[in-house]
Amino acid sequence: MGQVDGEIAIITGAGSGIGRACALVLAREGAAIMATDIDDEGLRVTERLVTDAGGRIITAHQDVTDESMWEAIFSQTENAFGTPSVLVNNAGIAIAGAITDFTLDDWRKQMSVNVDSVFLGTRAAMRYMGSKGGSIVNISSVAGLRGAAGASAYCTSKGAVRLFSKAAAVECAQMGTGIRVNSVHPGIIDTPMVASILGMFDGDDMAERLTPMKRPGTPEEIAYGCLYLGSDEASYCNGTILTIDGGTTARQ
Ligand code: NAP
Repeated sequence: MGQVDGEIAIITGAGSGIGRACALVLAREGAAIMATDIDDEGLRVTERLVTDAGGRIITAHQDVTDESMWEAIFSQTENAFGTPSVLVNNAGIAIAGAITDFTLDDWRKQMSVNVDSVFLGTRAAMRYMGSKGGSIVNISSVAGLRGAAGASAYCTSKGAVRLFSKAAAVECAQMGTGIRVNSVHPGIIDTPMVASILGMFDGDDMAERLTPMKRPGTPEEIAYGCLYLGSDEASYCNGTILTIDGGTTARQ
C-alpha cells in the first residue's frame, strides 16, 4: 500500500528538477499524476520515467501564469482520474540581479511566474476540491525566509508564497473545506535552475560554503517532503513551513 494510494496529484513544472522528482515519488507511492510544464520535451521524459516505473500519468502543456489554463488542467485531470486531491505548485524561475540594475519587466515576470501562479493554482484547487478536502503544497525557498544580495525579486516572490500559503491555510480551515495548504522551503538543490544560478555567481562551491551539511540537496529529498504533506499522515499540518535545506537556515 502506497503512502498516497488513491490520491490524484497535479504537479506544475514537472518537466524538470523538483517537479519531476515529485511526479516520480508520488506516482511510486500510488498517486495518479497530471504533470504540467511549458517544457514539452521535459514532460515527455517525466512521462516515460513514471510509466516505466509502473505509475499512472498524463501530461499537459501549461504556462502557470495563464489564468485560462488552470480550469482546463483541473477538468482534464478530473476526466482522466477523478477529482484532484493534491496540487504541488512547483513551477518557478529565478531572475538574479542587483536592485539598482533590475528592470520593472523582470520584476513583474518574477512575480508573475512565482506568485500569480500560486494564487491561480490555489484558487482553482479550492474551487475543484470544494468540501472533499485535499492538500496544496506550495514550493517556496529558503529565500522566502531570509534575504540574499542579488536576489531581491526572487526573495520577495518566495516570501509572498510563504505568507499566501498561511493565509490560504487559515481561510480553508475556517471555511471547513478540509483542504490543507503548506509551503516547502528547499535550500540549494541540484537542478538545472540552480546550475544556472551557480553559473551566474561563478561559485561551484556555493552549496558547500552555504550549507552546514556541505552538499546540495537532491530533488528527491524535496519530493519526499511533498509526499508527506500530500498524504493523510500530514492531516494536522496546515500553514506549516517545511524547511528542507541541509541546516542552512538553522545557522544564523
Ligand atoms: P527547474 O529544474 O528549472 O524546473 C522548473 C520547471 O518549471 C522547468 O521545467 C521550467 O521550464 C518550468 N517553468 C518555468 N516557467 C514556467 C511557467 N511559466 N509555466 C510552467 N512551467 C514553467 O527548477 P527547480 O530547481 O526544479 O525548481 C522548482 C521549484 O523549486 C521552483 O519554484 C524554485 O523556485 C524552487 N526552488 C528551487 C531551489 C533549487 O535550489 N533548485 C531552491 C529553492 C526553491 P523551463 O526550463 O522551460 O523554464
